[in-house]
Amino acid sequence: MDRRHFNTGLAASFGAVALNSSLGGPARAAYRGPNVVIVRFGGGVRRSETIDPQRTYAPYLLNSLAPRGVLVPDMQIADIEGMDTSHAEGTINILTGRYAAWRDATQELLLNKIEPTSPTLFEYLRKAYDIAPHEALLINGEDRPQEEFFSFARHNKFGGDFRAEVLSLYRYKRWLYGKLLEENGSDEVLAGQLRDSIRKIEKHELPGRSPRANVRLDAFWQQWREDYRDDGFVNPRGDRLLTELAVRAMRKLRPRLMMINYQDPDYVHWGNASHYTRAIAIIDQGLQRLVNEADRLDQYANNTVFVVVPDCGRDSSPLKELPFQHHFNTRSAREIWTLVLGPGIDSGRVLDHTVDQTQIAATIGAVMGFKAGYSEAGAIDAVFS
Ligand SMILES: [Zn+2]
Repeated sequence: MDRRHFNTGLAASFGAVALNSSLGGPARAAYRGPNVVIVRFGGGVRRSETIDPQRTYAPYLLNSLAPRGVLVPDMQIADIEGMDTSHAEGTINILTGRYAAWRDATQELLLNKIEPTSPTLFEYLRKAYDIAPHEALLINGEDRPQEEFFSFARHNKFGGDFRAEVLSLYRYKRWLYGKLLEENGSDEVLAGQLRDSIRKIEKHELPGRSPRANVRLDAFWQQWREDYRDDGFVNPRGDRLLTELAVRAMRKLRPRLMMINYQDPDYVHWGNASHYTRAIAIIDQGLQRLVNEADRLDQYANNTVFVVVPDCGRDSSPLKELPFQHHFNTRSAREIWTLVLGPGIDSGRVLDHTVDQTQIAATIGAVMGFKAGYSEAGAIDAVFS
């Protein structure tokens, strides 16, 4: 008996039991809208090195992709007293449609564990529609385990039941250590080391946020392990790794909503400008690969909206001792942009008015057919065709 017949049979005998909802709530509708891929052009980038035709290090974004959609050159992060223009903050602005919708849950000094307090796009989508956990994905960088906490909000009407699953090297290691422990339990020394590593990871976790068992993700990591085993070829690192994870996810997990948190331009914190511009070029290549893959795969072709948006900008004062910083709420750290393209979105247009970073959430809600009820800003209506 397959699952569909099993469910039909049970539904027939028990009446109005919500069988298509594993959460026990009312039955949720099947999702029939387009896929959405959010590309965080992140680690903080300025307009000048991304969307300025004279100075761009992202030629694919500007010359090939922008003509397929609506480029919004003037997106702003609001100038709010005391607000930090940074990666976690910007990402939560995008995901929740609100400013300062987070709390720092850490007890320790110099560690930030920021979690959203307002529902994320993943939660709105999964609460409104019958979307499996592996169909809402967050793709994170390996050295930012604190971004794991963006997968759902601390919120009594939403939260962990509607979470996104996370793909990252950090998440892979967590899975792998558990597997290795199963396989090598009799080797006392190795088992001890593995238990230590697992304890370290668990120590990082916030209450109620441990990953849940998921057979689709087990299969995903099993395949990853086979392809990148110790004596085989080495997995890509940095933002190239994020592209690899995202492309694989599209092939094997078919997410309906996926956010890719690129981050490497941020290495410029250490002062080397070429790290910054090279990282922009690598994200641009990643973007090209993602779009090519979407154009190629049946379930994504002509049915996928891309939203490309930075988490924050960067300083432009040439007088600063360390250039290219972003934490100080300066004008160019608040000046970003967005590009939206796909079915239902206009093409070949450049928007001539100012929009706000918190409008992304309601815009994606309008694309996918849910209301981002706690967003404080409306959709960017002008992008729709
Ligand atoms: Zn930074």
